Amino acid sequence: MTVSKIKLHHGDLPAGLLFPHGVAIDTETLGLNPHRDRLCLVQLSSGDGTAHLVKFDGKSYGAPRLTALLADPAILKIFHFARFDIAVLKQYLGVETTPLYCTKIASKLARTYTDRHGLKDLVGELLGIELSKQQQSSDWGAPELSESQMSYAASDVLHLHALKTKLDTMLAREGRADLAQSAFGFLPTRARLDLSGYEHDDIFAH
Ligand code: MN
Repeated sequence: MTVSKIKLHHGDLPAGLLFPHGVAIDTETLGLNPHRDRLCLVQLSSGDGTAHLVKFDGKSYGAPRLTALLADPAILKIFHFARFDIAVLKQYLGVETTPLYCTKIASKLARTYTDRHGLKDLVGELLGIELSKQQQSSDWGAPELSESQMSYAASDVLHLHALKTKLDTMLAREGRADLAQSAFGFLPTRARLDLSGYEHDDIFAH
């Protein structure tokens, strides 16, 4: 793995960034309740070893370039546990993120030999890279992010393209690529259910 670069932006992406092979995205918030806990950071990578961090101060969520990218039907958005991130992005940026790929769903459909589907587990097993989860529960609303917060935040998007490649091979091998695609297509509805108070209900259950 080459040395990664981190670029910090405030309030929106800069103009002129291109994501020809899809964009890996993650978010950091003040907590796990999108109605209560604000969006603090959106991390993005084109898969080239550079992470762009867009920091929000909590007062304005305009971000026209970022929202245009999230809604762009020609650019695939790759997440790990997209369900949470796209709900937060809808809540704060008012945007429906599409089209989607989720490495956690891909892993659950392909890697049925394990119940370990965390990002750290996937990156360790499939890419042989050790990820630190140390800053996971730090204060993302701080006015200045520390070096270790920024490198943690970056590490959550730097490997998603490589993971997708590995998982796509496994999904194809097991004949579940179509099923995965359908599940990704349902994600916006799942996020709407979460935001509408059905987070803990399985509406398909008897
Ligand atoms: Mn993260």
